[in-house]
Amino acid sequence: MTRRTSNSATVAAFLCVAVGTIQLIRTPASAQSSDTPDLVFSNGKVVTVDERFTIAQAVAVKGDRIVAVGSSQEIAKLAGPNTRTIDLRGRTAIPGLIDNHLHLLRAGNTWELELRWDGVDSRKRAIEMIRTRAKTVGPGGWVFNIGGWATAQFTDDRKPFTREELDAIAPDNPVALQESYYQVFLNSRALKEFAIEAGKPDPPDFVSGSILRDASGKPTGIIRGDIAATRPVAARMPKLAPDRLEASTQALVQDMNRAGLTSFGVAGCNADVLEIMQRWKAQNRLPVRVFCIGGAAAGSPEQVERSIPQIARMKLFQGDTSIDDVVFGESVYTPLHDRMFAIDSDPQPDQLAQWRRLAMEIAKARLPLHVHAELRDTIDAFLDQIEAVNKEYPIRNLRWALAHVNQINATQLERMKKLGMYAAVHPWAVINGAIMHEGFGNGADDMPPLATIQKSGITWGLGSDGTAANQYLPMTALYFAVTGKMAGGLKVIRQTIDREDALIAYTRKNAYFVFQENNLGSIQAGKLADLVVLDRDYLTVPADQIKDIKPVMTVVGGKIVYESGPTH
Ligand SMILES: [Zn+2]
Repeated sequence: MTRRTSNSATVAAFLCVAVGTIQLIRTPASAQSSDTPDLVFSNGKVVTVDERFTIAQAVAVKGDRIVAVGSSQEIAKLAGPNTRTIDLRGRTAIPGLIDNHLHLLRAGNTWELELRWDGVDSRKRAIEMIRTRAKTVGPGGWVFNIGGWATAQFTDDRKPFTREELDAIAPDNPVALQESYYQVFLNSRALKEFAIEAGKPDPPDFVSGSILRDASGKPTGIIRGDIAATRPVAARMPKLAPDRLEASTQALVQDMNRAGLTSFGVAGCNADVLEIMQRWKAQNRLPVRVFCIGGAAAGSPEQVERSIPQIARMKLFQGDTSIDDVVFGESVYTPLHDRMFAIDSDPQPDQLAQWRRLAMEIAKARLPLHVHAELRDTIDAFLDQIEAVNKEYPIRNLRWALAHVNQINATQLERMKKLGMYAAVHPWAVINGAIMHEGFGNGADDMPPLATIQKSGITWGLGSDGTAANQYLPMTALYFAVTGKMAGGLKVIRQTIDREDALIAYTRKNAYFVFQENNLGSIQAGKLADLVVLDRDYLTVPADQIKDIKPVMTVVGGKIVYESGPTH
């Protein structure tokens, strides 16, 4: 701790703060009244996550920016008669948390309808929630969720749900509970709705063998496999009425703010939800920052032909610090997209040739890239291609990132570092740890190898890949990184990192992934005023309690977007 904790008294309003290449010089407060802050947070433990991991006490905000960070005394001097002061009463504040890869906008389409179990660690509680939801939606209404949880997160009982059990819990409602992208638990009403019955063939869109049946041919209620196996169930879930989309998206972003999340790398910015967010932005009430990961992925050689001119025309960075397109991704050539829960891959030369053609165009167009790559052989094969591309069109300053990378190793990290690449680490094991141990055996112990990644010196950040493949709560992910334990407490990885490095990976480092390192990721003068006040101290709470830390206030651009009752 002392290693990175310096005397906050030196960090005052008058510092010359390096923000990227721009030098922001703070003038003394007395010099002009126009510098008077609108808002001051004082008497806190402000974990700035600046380069020296400075701890301060107070922050001054004017408009949407931080204008000074320092001791309570120093910052108090800046306040004018119209400055609002929030007494943090010793509480810890951290920078707004950034998830570098979350399917945020897609989730808006189902959020209001889904029974979310992020952070629910009791099976008993989960069952109560099914009962309550059944009552709310009424007889015949669907009770369902689309991933984001796993049975192993339940501390009281980790057993799977059975058809009979779900029939007893919700006799009058169809129930479909999707465990990550691994399996779905259905009750009899749901099976009936899908026309999955004893003595009848499987509906044609279900993956062959994914509908589990007992010896007599009676469906057990379990659909098992991977994304392809779970997809037909998700496709059959009720759709949100168009006039509910805004409310659903509102509930979604409120849940994100409640979790301390303020900015996102968003894989796939769905047009319908983006339109709502653009409207909120115009009305100055968008409570999150959205940085889209999108592009012209191809699934066949013919599509590659079509994608190439699209890549040449792609324009990024036309937006601002609220909404922008920042990077090509997350797929390049979809036949090489590692399936979740696949235990190995075998990239073929003809597929890699297509992948390389696209990557060559992306490099030629000088676009950043953020590409899904999970398994060892896929990562090696992509790096072979990228090294070849790099010889023709150097990628060093383009921030090319491999994403997910749970099976990455030290040699690969070294190759990436030489290329100037980044690693976007999305530990699927936060909920899928037990499932991954079934598939990979001891190999899952190092998925991801967090200490190896940290030691490599590569630029890397943490994300969730939520909200189906993973849960989205950053405090649960930070707990995982520090303890090696998945949601619910099972120890699933052996390489952990210290809590400072984990927090850096969720804030300052992730700012690079969304191309906002001059604006976001730390509490420093000149940056946007995104911060989170916590109910206990992230730096000193016992490691096992990190997952229980709750934000009491979330601030985005100097505006309070979430508050858990009276905090000041
Ligand atoms: Zn992915």
